[in-house]
Amino acid sequence: MERLVRSCYKKKGGYAFARKAEDIAREYGITKIARLASNENPDPLSPLALKAAQEALRTVNRYPDEKVNVLMAALRTHYPHEHFVTGVGMDGVIETIFRTLVEPGEKVVISNPTFSFYNLAAMGQGAEVATVLREKDFSVDTKKLIREAKDAKVTVLCSPNNPTGNATPISDVEEILESIEGLLFLDNAYIEFSDIDYIPLMKKHENLVLGRTMSKVYSLAGLRVGYAFTPRWLPPWYARAGTPFTVNSVSMAAAAAALSDNDHATRYIAHVRQWRKRFAEEIRYPVMPSDANFVMIDVAPHTSDEMVEELARKGVVVRSCRSFTGLEDHYIRANVGEDWENEQFIAGINSV
Ligand SMILES: *Cc1c(COP(=O)(O)O)cnc(C)c1O
Repeated sequence: MERLVRSCYKKKGGYAFARKAEDIAREYGITKIARLASNENPDPLSPLALKAAQEALRTVNRYPDEKVNVLMAALRTHYPHEHFVTGVGMDGVIETIFRTLVEPGEKVVISNPTFSFYNLAAMGQGAEVATVLREKDFSVDTKKLIREAKDAKVTVLCSPNNPTGNATPISDVEEILESIEGLLFLDNAYIEFSDIDYIPLMKKHENLVLGRTMSKVYSLAGLRVGYAFTPRWLPPWYARAGTPFTVNSVSMAAAAAALSDNDHATRYIAHVRQWRKRFAEEIRYPVMPSDANFVMIDVAPHTSDEMVEELARKGVVVRSCRSFTGLEDHYIRANVGEDWENEQFIAGINSV
């Protein structure tokens, strides 16, 4: 019956997970595994979020609020902006934005190497995907990007970028916004770990969407909540294209409460900044400068997978960057974890 499957999914694709390394670590009988492959906050969620989620569980016999009012109110309190959309993770937001805007055959431009889900989501929409390679230092060649993106329906840029870690300067983003006809989706999954604020750009540009997630700094990866800052015109159309209930009631309650717990976020951000610096100083391979809660490391002469396997044997699970299109095969990505995880990682990689 596989003949029924769409041809675009038969070629190759699917999201690359880091499970295999965990299996290797377990095979070696290691019980204390440092999990540094998925850029998660190792701290449990805020107690306020836990309480709100437990409270919300009482009423799950009812459908959630389709207007997502509790979360919308929390977002408007937290940020100087009015218009938001929400989704099942930022992944859900990305998918719905493509579904809202992109006709089959229309162009989507992606700046590579980057997060692989944009390509999967664009493909699902039947888009023509064009990729523009970053420079050697992983900065964005804005001229080249603009040339390709001028007539695209949607252009996707990740900043700080996954997996390279670097952020794109505000002036470059502004130049792109002023030079393209379509929409720029700026993925800000890691923005809380940087000093950059793109929100002021929303006032001047009707073609900018800032994607955000509750999965990283807010410790809610398992609850799947994403949102985006949008221009005024977008939300009604997004609502037409999306599934009727964008966020479930438990996730919505937890996310709203998590946004109000500044201490939880601040503590982890400080921890990340401190360890990002230590990774750069103490690891004997070149560590790329990062504005995120992870770093990308050049592990040449080893290949990405070789290093992942070596580290797995030492009880450290990191992400191989082999699957990132446009990247040479000698990089790994590791996020800041708990102190013992980071120490196990530094000792591990320095002994390879
Ligand atoms: C983690 C991540 C996301 C989305 O995460 P969700 O869990 O779906 O909210 C989006 N973009 C990038 C670059 C990410 O790394």
